[in-house]
Amino acid sequence: PGVIFSGIQPTGEPHLGNYLGALRQWKRLQDTAHPKTKLFFCIVDMHAITTPRPPEEMQELRWKMMASLLAVGLDPDRCTIFFQSTVPQHAELQWILSCTASTGYLSRMTQWKSKLNLGENATLDNLGAKGLLKHGLFSYPVLQAADILLYRTTHVPVGEDQRQHLEFTRECVTNFNHTYKTKCLVSPQTLISPTRRVMSLTKPGDKMSKSDLSAKSRILITHSPKEIAARINGATTDSLNTVTYEPEARPGVANLISIMSGFDPQGRSPEQLGEEMQGYKIRELKEAVARVVSDQLAEVRERYAAFESDKDKLRKVSVQGTEKATLQAGETMAAVREAIGFSD
Ligand code: ATP
Ligand code: MG
Repeated sequence: PGVIFSGIQPTGEPHLGNYLGALRQWKRLQDTAHPKTKLFFCIVDMHAITTPRPPEEMQELRWKMMASLLAVGLDPDRCTIFFQSTVPQHAELQWILSCTASTGYLSRMTQWKSKLNLGENATLDNLGAKGLLKHGLFSYPVLQAADILLYRTTHVPVGEDQRQHLEFTRECVTNFNHTYKTKCLVSPQTLISPTRRVMSLTKPGDKMSKSDLSAKSRILITHSPKEIAARINGATTDSLNTVTYEPEARPGVANLISIMSGFDPQGRSPEQLGEEMQGYKIRELKEAVARVVSDQLAEVRERYAAFESDKDKLRKVSVQGTEKATLQAGETMAAVREAIGFSD
């Protein structure tokens, strides 16, 4: 038993990194977890507004993400699938946690720096005064901690890029429990997906992201075989027309091999595939990668098309998810309020 929680931002349709690093892992956990294990999968729309956009666009992105979660095989009768903004306790717990969280720790975190295109050594000096750094982007990890802690989560399946945020979540637990001499918040464990971080197709030094301005940098789980082939064909490699798996020296080629390994029905490692494809030309490698990605995503693609046009079904899943999540959130908040001295 235990509680599994994870989230994804409705900032675009999921790409191969989201799929291999998170969504596929969620589906596997759903299928293999102990029947008493509770699973919460949250579309974190409150996080998404750190980048404001027109309301119609936000609305569309939320439903597309809901359709994507169902398309990868999550079952609303087994998991709680919901939008973060429909459960106000996320924001309530965030405020409470922020009162014992350290700004020093937050200022060292890398996400706000990378979202503002600043180097890892950037500091807060001047940024706030210039109005460049919004408070929500800076305190994003506190809301993320609240998301997780609200459900007394024991395990959080995420991609490698979230490791630092999970450490901060545990820090929030220590700070709160110590301050109020309580054990009511539970420290979660991080479950990092076994597949390596998927990198951008156009800039193999950066991770593949929904919010990357270049659409060519990613492949979406909804792309047609033709689109998949075109994006992989356009992927940045290097000047050698041979295939070797050398992540440091040849990051573009290594990323393609690593994607292939992520989708390989035989589960071969990138190292093994690199060996086996010695003698391939880059074009042959790209064709092989495109083929396996298209084949392995065929079912997801078909299911997505069916769910996306079924608004009634999507709404039902959302209502059901909100109900189940609210129940659990209410229990945790009662304990938190009592620990603080807010109960009647
Ligand atoms: P954004 O650019 O808006 O932050 P994102 O692509 O980073 O979007 P998130 O919604 O922030 O996606 O993250 C959802 C999940 O996908 C997280 O568990 C994250 O670790 C995982 N993830 C995101 N990008 C990658 C990647 N390139 N490789 C592996 N896992 C990834
Ligand atoms: Mg992200």
